[in-house]
Amino acid sequence: MEIDSFNDIETCGVSASDTDRIEAETIEDLKAHSQQPIPDPVQWLQAEKTGSLFLTKLDDILSWARKSSMWPGVCFTACCAFEFITTEASRFDLSRFGMEILRASPRQADLMITAGTLTWKTAPKIKRIYDQMAEPKWVIAMGTCAISGGIFASSYSVVPGYNRIIPVDIYIPGCPPRPEALIHGIQMLHEKVAKGTLRQG
Ligand code: SF4
Repeated sequence: MEIDSFNDIETCGVSASDTDRIEAETIEDLKAHSQQPIPDPVQWLQAEKTGSLFLTKLDDILSWARKSSMWPGVCFTACCAFEFITTEASRFDLSRFGMEILRASPRQADLMITAGTLTWKTAPKIKRIYDQMAEPKWVIAMGTCAISGGIFASSYSVVPGYNRIIPVDIYIPGCPPRPEALIHGIQMLHEKVAKGTLRQG
């Protein structure tokens, strides 16, 4: 039987000298065809450099993280609260913005959505809740009562706008504003936060 490769040795009876010769020829043949390094078939290092590496500013990535993880606190002072609750529920679904959980503690919240009329009697409590919220923090005035006191503006007992006691970032008109309007206001706040810088805190 003709023996023409090193792989055939084990299956055929051959002399020791033939085994040595065939082994040497095989090795020489492999050396002759192995003069260049074989390139890595998966160029993962190069691919990562060109396809996955991106550069950005610390300001941009921090603002992106802030706007994508806002946690609203509970501030239900009157009837606008029901529109807010509807906005949280499945039909409108604030979890699309990572905001589905209302924080019961101001220390875990960075967004106050003022859903309702504010009276002077309640105002000190709302101000204390705002002061206890984590920095940086934002406020959305929801509805005409929150903006200016609404139809109760001339009342002796109603605060004519939350901005008398705390700073307000976004105003949403309506009595009450619909969930779509609240979502639009939230998106406006996200844009504002996305343009923020570290220097503003
Ligand atoms: S704006 Fe209208 S719905 Fe909202 S709290 Fe005032 S009266 Fe109620």
